[in-house]
Amino acid sequence: MSITATGEKKWVLEMGQGVYNDDGEVEALEGIVLDISDRKAIEDTLKYNNEHDRWTGLYNRDYLVSLLEKDIKLKKRSKKALIGINLSTVQLLTVNYGFQYSQNLIKKVADTLSQHCTDNRLLFRPREHRFIFYLFDYKDKNELIDFSNSLIKTLGSLFITERIGGGIGILEIEQNQNEVDIDLLLRRLLIASERYVSLFGKDFKICFYDKELEALVNRERDIVEALNVIAANDHITDDLFLQYQPIVNLKTGSVFGFEALARLRTEKLGLVPPLEFIPIAEKTKLILPLGEKVIVKALRFLNKLKEHGYDEIKISINISITQLLKPDFISKLFELMSEMQINPKNVGLEITETVFATDYDNINNVIEKLREAGLYIAIDDFGTGYSSLSRETGLKADCMKIDKYFIDMLLSANLNKAITSDIISMAHKLGHSTIAEGVEHDIQLQYLKEYGCDKIQGYLISRPLDEEDAIVFLKKHDIQGEQLSIMSS
Ligand code: C2E
Ligand code: MG
Ligand code: MG
Repeated sequence: MSITATGEKKWVLEMGQGVYNDDGEVEALEGIVLDISDRKAIEDTLKYNNEHDRWTGLYNRDYLVSLLEKDIKLKKRSKKALIGINLSTVQLLTVNYGFQYSQNLIKKVADTLSQHCTDNRLLFRPREHRFIFYLFDYKDKNELIDFSNSLIKTLGSLFITERIGGGIGILEIEQNQNEVDIDLLLRRLLIASERYVSLFGKDFKICFYDKELEALVNRERDIVEALNVIAANDHITDDLFLQYQPIVNLKTGSVFGFEALARLRTEKLGLVPPLEFIPIAEKTKLILPLGEKVIVKALRFLNKLKEHGYDEIKISINISITQLLKPDFISKLFELMSEMQINPKNVGLEITETVFATDYDNINNVIEKLREAGLYIAIDDFGTGYSSLSRETGLKADCMKIDKYFIDMLLSANLNKAITSDIISMAHKLGHSTIAEGVEHDIQLQYLKEYGCDKIQGYLISRPLDEEDAIVFLKKHDIQGEQLSIMSS
């Protein structure tokens, strides 16, 4: 930098060389001074663009990566952490209010979050709906939590009208490492910040990336891998299999049917419960091919039952909303049933009550068509989901499966307060039959009988059984002359 005669500051490039005499000694120096201010300005702009996000003016991902690489290599800063703010829910606003609206909102977020910057808290915008704070030389974990809570407070008041939430992920960068995979660090941060993001939630939740989350994420990946293999395999494998839990008619004592419950077992994972792998299958849409395999297996079992002379028994199959809303779900199911010569009256489908919150009319239409074809439709986990009475009246299902929560209630000291009987009578008034789920104790059975519940399912009758055991169960039941010992009390 030089100052001109008029006092102006200029960027200059000085070039010079010596002038030598015949003896090789320096006689003089000659040189030129070039004004490179314009070139410098262009360079500065390029550097700025390389390091900053255009829309918000914040630092961008590239700059974050280069800064982290440098700091980790030079072992700069005593403690280092990243806090990721995931605002993917803003996409919902784009759908409703347009691109410009959400862009402006992101700008507002950037300006507001900037106010939390200090010398050792830098703010970045690595991706469209994400922000990252890079913190260094902080005291301890508590400081990170306190800081995240202050961010939540800021964001909460900013989104007060939009009523959306998001996720905050915290990742501490281990000390004393020379080589660190920055991509991996950022991916982990993303995992932590995505962990609790719910499309319909209105809160911000904090999640630390730690060994536990890592184990969870690895397990989830292993499950997805196992499900992928099953989905891609044309032959039916035994890694995905069904167990059958009896449903007994309380009025007649006869076996009404079985609920088909999916299980996953692989060498690497052992036995994985459906409560763990079904949500993963739903999230990845693998539930579509897997659900088809479940249906095929259940229908095969129906044919096996027929071979043993049981042609009145129903098999109830759990169906996810993703399956149900697939346009060709009904036609494919009907095709399969006719190919396998299945009588529709032997087939039941269980649909959880929560699905009605999403697309009530559409789902109700699908149910109506299935019922017209003779299938039996049960609303699963009834009482825990979308319980608007006005809608319940219009539900086209045959039966309500009363959730275990209301059956457990019957074990509490104050039976008078249990609303289970009200649920039974409400379902009856609306023309639906009732199945009680998760009946484990005789006291529950007695109550359910007294208040006219139609059917029960639960460990008191039997745990879910393998195919062979399910057939043994039926045979035993025949011998007992439709009078299970527990029914007579
Ligand atoms: P669900 O349909 O409500 O199934 C009832 C669950 O309660 C089953 O758990 C069953 O084993 C359990 N259960 C039955 N009686 C008792 C009892 O007396 N006490 C206790 N504590 N539990 C009892 P499971 O097999 O772990 O299945 C969990 C959930 O996974 C099912 O809940 C269903 O929503 C889902 N699921 C299972 N198989 C499939 C499937 O093939 N497709 C889909 N989409 N979901 C499935
Ligand atoms: Mg079920
Ligand atoms: Mg249930």
